[in-house]
Amino acid sequence: MSFSSLGLSPALLRAIQASAYAVPTPIQLAAIPAALQGRDVLGSAQTGSGKTAAFALALLQQLQDRPPQRARRLRALILVPTRELSAQVGEEIRKLAQHLPQALKVSIVFGGVSLNPQMLRLRGGSDIVVATPGRLLDLLDHNALSLGSVSTLVLDEADRLLDLGFAEELARLLALLPAQRQNLFFSATFPPAVQALAQTLLRDPVRVEVLPAPQTQPAIAQRAIAVDAGRRTQLLRHLIQLNHWRRVLVFVATKHAAEVVADKLRKVRIYAEPFHGELSQGKRTQVLADFKASRLKVVVATDVAARGLDIAQLPVVVNFDLPRSAVDYTHRIGRTGRAGESGLAVSFVSADTEAHFRLIEKRQGLSLALEQIEGFEPLPSAMPSAMSTGGTPIDPSSGGIKGKRPSKKDKLRQAAAGGQ
Ligand code: AMP
Repeated sequence: MSFSSLGLSPALLRAIQASAYAVPTPIQLAAIPAALQGRDVLGSAQTGSGKTAAFALALLQQLQDRPPQRARRLRALILVPTRELSAQVGEEIRKLAQHLPQALKVSIVFGGVSLNPQMLRLRGGSDIVVATPGRLLDLLDHNALSLGSVSTLVLDEADRLLDLGFAEELARLLALLPAQRQNLFFSATFPPAVQALAQTLLRDPVRVEVLPAPQTQPAIAQRAIAVDAGRRTQLLRHLIQLNHWRRVLVFVATKHAAEVVADKLRKVRIYAEPFHGELSQGKRTQVLADFKASRLKVVVATDVAARGLDIAQLPVVVNFDLPRSAVDYTHRIGRTGRAGESGLAVSFVSADTEAHFRLIEKRQGLSLALEQIEGFEPLPSAMPSAMSTGGTPIDPSSGGIKGKRPSKKDKLRQAAAGGQ
């Protein structure tokens, strides 16, 4: 199946060609025709599936078919969880809209930067707004735009929108939208809260649940390496140098850890930058641009900041700190192996995180052997239990490591592990 069979205009086909998309991805094949018929769509799609272009192309075709009568009025609203994603989605739409006979104004709206320039840019109206919910509400409170004429609403990464605590903002925004509208709903996962939201929003949706086709299935090799927590930076440095990794996205649990790990890598002349929510938007944009242009070898990121990052051909992701949940694990490793490229995801596992890793593994339906890297073998007393070779046994009631008092988190994890 080709793009030309999907009912898209020559102007959109030209933009697709310029983007070098040879054939539609499964989600595009399924979602575009349904959306063009005006149906609501419920898409189960991971990042990397081509879902952005799926809804963007459908939207643009519809806007082109129905040019505005008089003044520019907001017709499509796309809600996304993070500022990076709003910029990426906005840019993709602009790229795909570039040859349309009637120019469309696409406004990108996100928090963390001053309000006034965004208010100025919204003057004169927009055809499409891509926004994070909180900032959009601020702008609505300032009468910078109105949602009264929106005919299509897209919720992108609905699970993440709820994870990040946007439920209340979403409810306020939905109340401001016209009842008569098309809804395109995309989510990578469908926990009960996401299902409930989909149910309230969608009318008789076309369900698009696409298993990745063989040619687009990201081939992500997953490895787990046992290492003492205190030696992870050294191991990371060793792996980068040994394997000649050119571009690595490293995940850590906190902003502080992002700063510290990046700092340590820079000290050994591995060009690394932290990436977290406390950096200014300018700095984040700069880091991303440097990473994309390969001026930067390593980005050390927190989960929220890295959500939605789309860096083509990102070969390696490292879980320096393990993710909190199996869902976060999926999101993290999804940063590599995008759009059919192969990728590698490496998790560092130490004695006190092994139980947690096993939980993630179980939820993922995985079974990974814990590897040891020569020169970085864990000390016997701190060795993950599955690999202990006669070292000090690990007393589960002690939180995993002998002599360490169990924290509240340890106890919760033990309870969870026992309940599986
Ligand atoms: P998304 O799932 O929207 O995050 O898209 C992931 C990546 O796939 C982006 O880098 C897109 O540029 C790329 N992409 C989207 N559609 C196609 C296609 N039909 N063929 C190849 N790459 C695509």
